[in-house]
Amino acid sequence: MALASTAVSAFEREHPEVAVLLRAALKQGEKVNLITTGWRSWFVDDIFLGGPTLLANRHLIVGTDERLLLIHMSRQGLKPEGYLHEVPRSSIMGSLMLPLLSIFTSGGTLRFLGVPFTGRRALEFEPDPDKTTSGQPRPLCPACFEPQLEGVAQCSRCETAFKTPLAAGVRSLLIPGWGDAWLDSRIVGAITLLFTMFLWLNVVAFLQAAAATGPGQADVVGKMVTGFLMATAAAHTLSGLVSAARARHGLRAKSGRLPATAPRSATEPPQG
Ligand SMILES: [Zn+2]
Repeated sequence: MALASTAVSAFEREHPEVAVLLRAALKQGEKVNLITTGWRSWFVDDIFLGGPTLLANRHLIVGTDERLLLIHMSRQGLKPEGYLHEVPRSSIMGSLMLPLLSIFTSGGTLRFLGVPFTGRRALEFEPDPDKTTSGQPRPLCPACFEPQLEGVAQCSRCETAFKTPLAAGVRSLLIPGWGDAWLDSRIVGAITLLFTMFLWLNVVAFLQAAAATGPGQADVVGKMVTGFLMATAAAHTLSGLVSAARARHGLRAKSGRLPATAPRSATEPPQG
């Protein structure tokens, strides 16, 4: 399970924190061909909930002989954060349009958009004529790295509890942005909260105005109160839906961020 090649060793020296996680996530005998970051954009990743840009944004892409590991990384620096996916090699062959939108074909090999030029060659997968394409990217348990179904509440293997879409949605329905912050999208959460507070302040202000106005203006002020109340309700609902959608992308442990070491490594001989 040693990380192969000198390029990987160099990466390990520069980013020991990721390397520890990677060693734990790799299967016995799995050979690493490439480690690279894709096109890293906080904006695209957060605003589009990570879904359409699975391969490109804020993910460390680790190409092995049997799959791609996609590890969600921090906005700055290379720190493992939140969740990871794997793309089985079997699902890469021929999956040119769906679900891997970042892959296109060129001269019989598959390439990735957003990967630094130096990394592209190593990410080329030779098509396997003997195997049919099946499967799609799947989330891994952030504690034991067992593949799971998207949106499950608990790991089927190590029973780690996950942050569910329902729990994230309810949080944001009550306090818009809370669910996003809970899912580590703190800036989006803060913006959402500020915007909703602005709407609530308007509701309160117009209610106070309604109490102080004479009969001639009451109609107009009443309409403003109703309008801002409806906008506020819409903000709560929308934030709830957005947070639920965000939680559906990747599995995050309730107990915190990705572990530095995983239970799996405890059952295996120590690394040299
Ligand atoms: Zn697990």
